[in-house]
Amino acid sequence: MSYVRMFMEGSASDRALLGGKGANLAEMTRMGLPVPPGFIVTTDACRHYLHHGEAPDGLRDQVRVAVQVIEAETGRRFGDPVNPLLLSVRSGAPFSMPGMMETVLNLGLNRENVKALAATDEHFAHDAFRRLVQMFGEVVQDIPGRAFAAARAPFLRDAGVDDVAELSAADLEAVGHAYLQVVEQETGEPFPMDPDTQLQAAIEAVFRSWNGHKARTYRALENISDELGTAVNVQTMVFGNLGDRSATGVVFTRDPATGENVPYGDALKGAQGEDVVAGTRNTMHLAELRHEFPEQYDDLLLVLSRLEQRYRDMCDIEFTIEDDRLWILQTRVGKRSARAALRMAVEMVDEGLIDEPTAIRRFTPTQLERLLHPQFDPDATYDVVAKGLGASPGAASGRAVFDADEAERVAADGTPVILVRVETAADDVHGMVAAQGIVTAKGGLVSHAAVVARGIGRPAVCGVAELTIDEEAGTATANGLTIEAGDVISIDGSTGEVALGKVRVVRPEPGAELDRLLQWADQLRSLGVRANADTAEDARRAVAFGAEGIGLCRTEHLFVGARAPMIERFILSQDQAEVDAALQELHDVHVEELTGVLEAMDGKPVTVRLLDPPLHEFLPSVTELRVAEAKGELDDAGLAKLAMAERWHEHNPMLGIRGVRLAALAPDLYRMQAHALAEAVVARIRAGGNPRLQVMIPLVVSTAELAHARDDVAAELRRSFDAAAIEVDVPIGTMLETPRAAVIAGELAAGPADFLSFGTNDLTQMTFGFSRDDVEGPMMEQYVEMGLLEADPFATLDRVGVGALMRMAVDAIRAADALDDIGICGEHGGEPASIAFCHELGLDYVSCSPFRVRTARLAAAHAALAD
Ligand code: PEP
Ligand code: MG
Repeated sequence: MSYVRMFMEGSASDRALLGGKGANLAEMTRMGLPVPPGFIVTTDACRHYLHHGEAPDGLRDQVRVAVQVIEAETGRRFGDPVNPLLLSVRSGAPFSMPGMMETVLNLGLNRENVKALAATDEHFAHDAFRRLVQMFGEVVQDIPGRAFAAARAPFLRDAGVDDVAELSAADLEAVGHAYLQVVEQETGEPFPMDPDTQLQAAIEAVFRSWNGHKARTYRALENISDELGTAVNVQTMVFGNLGDRSATGVVFTRDPATGENVPYGDALKGAQGEDVVAGTRNTMHLAELRHEFPEQYDDLLLVLSRLEQRYRDMCDIEFTIEDDRLWILQTRVGKRSARAALRMAVEMVDEGLIDEPTAIRRFTPTQLERLLHPQFDPDATYDVVAKGLGASPGAASGRAVFDADEAERVAADGTPVILVRVETAADDVHGMVAAQGIVTAKGGLVSHAAVVARGIGRPAVCGVAELTIDEEAGTATANGLTIEAGDVISIDGSTGEVALGKVRVVRPEPGAELDRLLQWADQLRSLGVRANADTAEDARRAVAFGAEGIGLCRTEHLFVGARAPMIERFILSQDQAEVDAALQELHDVHVEELTGVLEAMDGKPVTVRLLDPPLHEFLPSVTELRVAEAKGELDDAGLAKLAMAERWHEHNPMLGIRGVRLAALAPDLYRMQAHALAEAVVARIRAGGNPRLQVMIPLVVSTAELAHARDDVAAELRRSFDAAAIEVDVPIGTMLETPRAAVIAGELAAGPADFLSFGTNDLTQMTFGFSRDDVEGPMMEQYVEMGLLEADPFATLDRVGVGALMRMAVDAIRAADALDDIGICGEHGGEPASIAFCHELGLDYVSCSPFRVRTARLAAAHAALAD
């Protein structure tokens, strides 16, 4: 069995075996791009190593043969005393895990050939050797980095410099010797000078790093299977730090923050690749690179365009210029902000690079939600401490925290925090996840902080050069303003502003590109998308967002705030005259509001739900009234209120007298509603409109119950329409909100229901026996964290339990074959994973809050594409 592939032997489609990085190196080699020669040790070998604790038989020999192929190609020999081939060893998992696993550079150097190299470039040779000893020591031999730091400290002190790279060649040589001693002290053995031993040990160290703590955490976060294993890329070293005609950098084929079709990148002269990503030194932009290396720049642009054509997507690459020669070290489809994803997807369709379904696949509902994320209100006034790069969009406020562990600790009780760091590394990811936003003083759009923040959807401002951060002291200063640990600050990851205090935020409007993409989505989806809207204003907004009707208009929402006493007056009515007056008042509000709703939704179905909540919700609390009574503060009216509040008081109101149960106990209410709805319809018809009213009766548990309510409502509607001499068909349906309703859905469909809509808020509440008002928050968080539930079932539809009831209902309804339509109007109707489930069930539509309508349109298209 072969565990090794030369770059020439693979292609981009071999990801599982060669890892993402390896497959792309192979592809670029096949394309004839200037890739330093190398080979890949496959994920098979890694899995074997992880299962058996040792490398598979034959691997060592296969590696040796592959090295010989490189030797032939480069004309250098691995371990040669005079003209040595140097190799890098890097991890490369099937899915990108940036910075999570290990790398060892400069393998093949030893005491002997470093001398030969030093004859040409002393500084370079000793620098390369000390890098090898330290990386090998840390990665392969588990020697703590601080042991090396301690060994170099005296040299830095004596030379008066901060960075090892600034030391003289002689000092670097001495540092190398000191490092060799560290290795011997820590391991009890001398540093291995045999190149084959170095290479084999480095490959195995990369295998082991798959199970390192960082890597495991990252995989858990990104849902990457622990079983995949990593490939190992062994590649000829090229040096961006070889004299002043060398450089190294990272370039994206398009701007990863805005999506604009211009290359974006950073480069460093006289540096190794790691220095660019670490953000520890000030990088030069592409314009400067073009100025310094005009020919290589042109070659680079050519490579970028060929890669885009090949991958039909935005790519990023790592490149090195070694002594005027351009090398491409790596490429992959680049990470991007949500805004950039949208713009690129639409523009690539216009450029003929991709088709519309591909564009839709490349812009996920989650990205859309992120894109609709807030930003600083342009009209707000605030103190800007400093401005950096808008590295990950969104705006956030929170307490400034200067350490990742501290961020996790402070955020544990729900306190929002902003993590402020000079720069971030893989060790900070848990703090970044816990934070609402991230600020770094160093690093560009491709720095660790920027890439991770975009990936996990946290706003981030990076490279705030003017910000002086003292992580130990917990202060950040710029422009005469100081942020201290614990101060509330705000950041806008689009504009790059860092401000003092809490800044007001607004939601942006993404404009024409989104409209176009959503129109393509509308062509693809089979699910309808309606809105949950209660007022004319909501309805207009929903239509603007593309809603195809109203799936749920909650009439009780007409009586919040100033109108709440109207229902109270009805409940407290003493005689028929008072009842009639109260009903008339309620009736008038219905007519006025619903005429507006029907107008805004003219020609589209509007499902109005009759009153649902328990009546006590409209009365003052029994406790308050009793206290007032005890104090002698209640007059006759107050006493009447108390009597009524006590009469309607319930121990478990969510399971008490609400919904259709009111039709039996207070039948006047639904009759009044039916009458008012008919009047609104008549008014719209007389105004030349096309009202398409549907009446929905909530919380049904039995067919007889629905039939009873339906007869009443239908009779009232007919009376009103007859009186107006108008003929209209108003379908009457119900919600599937109780488990029992789901069980008898077939009977409801064949009998009294013209349409059905899943009310999954209540259905979830009653299936789980979780009070929707009580278990959200601490309990739900705890459950999810402890793994007792996979997700909050009120946010994401529970396929196993609630989903089984839904499936059963849908099957029975389809068998009855007697319905107009079947939808969903619980909160889940706007959540992408739940929408996918609704698509699988074959529902006719989802209905969700107006702000989620666009996400729902996109999610429905994604669900259709996944079919
Ligand atoms: C539901 O229960 O899912 C529903 C839409 O109704 P409400 O949220 O008003 O109870
Ligand atoms: Mg409900």
